[in-house]
Amino acid sequence: MTEVTTRRPPSFPTKFPYADQPDRSPGFSSSLDTLVQLSFKDTKRTPADTQKDLKRKAIRMKQTFDLIWPLIDLNSSMENQYWSSYYCCRELKQEGVYLRAKYCNKRWCFTCNAIRCAKMINNYMPIFKLHPHAQFVTLTRPNVKAEDLPEEINCLVAEFRIMIRYLRGMKKIDLRGLRKLEVTYNWYENTYHPHFHLIVHMPGAARELIEEWLFRNPTAKRAAQHMREADQGSFTELFKYAAKIAADKDMSPFAQDVIFQALANHRIYQPFGINKVIKDPEDPQEVTQAYGSLDPEIYKVWYFNNDKKDWDSLQGESLIDTIIKSYNYRHETVAAYISDS
Ligand SMILES: [Zn+2]
Repeated sequence: MTEVTTRRPPSFPTKFPYADQPDRSPGFSSSLDTLVQLSFKDTKRTPADTQKDLKRKAIRMKQTFDLIWPLIDLNSSMENQYWSSYYCCRELKQEGVYLRAKYCNKRWCFTCNAIRCAKMINNYMPIFKLHPHAQFVTLTRPNVKAEDLPEEINCLVAEFRIMIRYLRGMKKIDLRGLRKLEVTYNWYENTYHPHFHLIVHMPGAARELIEEWLFRNPTAKRAAQHMREADQGSFTELFKYAAKIAADKDMSPFAQDVIFQALANHRIYQPFGINKVIKDPEDPQEVTQAYGSLDPEIYKVWYFNNDKKDWDSLQGESLIDTIIKSYNYRHETVAAYISDS
């Protein structure tokens, strides 16, 4: 695909906001890199594992491009934001066994979402494991047209916040959980469906929540509100960020853009009654990761090649392609040196 050459970011900053900050060493616990780095601390990881990790990253980048190209063509107010995902992990700076990259942290980015999803599960699962009867709750109101979506989301979010404050403060209900804001699209009616998915720690609290929601929202139908015992599937559903948007083949780029615009200033996840365990950054962020099988003597920059789904150096080598070969070469050279001396 050569579509890349026809598009240029019109006013994308040449420098990321974090570019001037000091480098983060691999031990640094920033908000996005912790989980990834933990996995690479395992010294048993082979060059084949490193290759697999980078291949996975390359495939996610390709998925993001497929999603953002039509969105960029819309020339909407979000255009620069979509472009920032084009630059996510595009340039990898190798400093020995470390690879440094800039992550966009956007909601539609498959690369950033995979990390975010894993981090959310790691951070929130231990909390909900303490509550074996936690409930997966859905709260809805009737669908709205595109032009009413921003106002509807503002209203839903405010309503939810007031309701939680009332239930916990005035009614003294022990209410603990996590709220996710999601919007789906009905192509048949051309309407949008903003709704909440929640994990609530106890069935009683979940029931109170649904009753209060129905009381405060007379247009909401009882049959459209749900609660069921939370299982592994519920957590996957809750933490998979953009999956709904990307996987929904019926959703036009226009509808996706309407949703991303309406969600722009809102938090997708909001805990209530429990501490916020992790930050959810939305700005680009520089992250360094260690890959033990990389050549410790190499210092160079790799650029992503959309067609090859690999990172190329200016000298024409490909990163994923050469990992195993160069690792074996180094080890054979060392072995030969030892046997000679
Ligand atoms: Zn990204």
